[in-house]
Amino acid sequence: MSITDKSKPYFPLANDGWSKEDEATVTCFCGAVQLAFPTQGPGLVNTFVCNCTDCHMITASQFASNFTVANTHLKHLRGQDTLKTFAQSQTIASGNMMTNHFCSTCGTLMYRVSSGFPHWSILRIGTIDDFTLQHTKLKPQKEISLSNDWTGYVPSRASPKLRAWALGTSSTMAPFEL
Ligand SMILES: [Zn+2]
Ligand SMILES: [Zn+2]
Repeated sequence: MSITDKSKPYFPLANDGWSKEDEATVTCFCGAVQLAFPTQGPGLVNTFVCNCTDCHMITASQFASNFTVANTHLKHLRGQDTLKTFAQSQTIASGNMMTNHFCSTCGTLMYRVSSGFPHWSILRIGTIDDFTLQHTKLKPQKEISLSNDWTGYVPSRASPKLRAWALGTSSTMAPFEL
């Protein structure tokens, strides 16, 4: 299937995702859970790649690509009662409690909520049904939780100032901790 053919779903298990000018959907792997989110501010707070240990483990990958949405602008279209939660604070650098909300059927992590920012939900860029948004409106704008021995995903495209901020070595900007 060509991803340039917008008349067909990019991922056929859930074939009813959509994107409009200012709103789009995320859907879990099996299709049971679907939400709608804004593709611009103020409802869309930020887009970022995170290299923290949680993001390694929960993605079974090297990093997670995330976006943050204000809860006031996030709509559960279906499957909210299919979501299960898992919460812990041991691995969160800030000490905040982080709650994962995932599909109890297929296991897809749909969003995380930090007790430090309870009015925001942190969604996964990879669950967006319209794949073109991953490298357009929802393209990661910053990278966080870098370590000095990992050069990261975004820095080659990021300014030295942003990299210093991501590494927590900036004198003018505080590190971003969820
Ligand atoms: Zn599912
Ligand atoms: Zn992370």
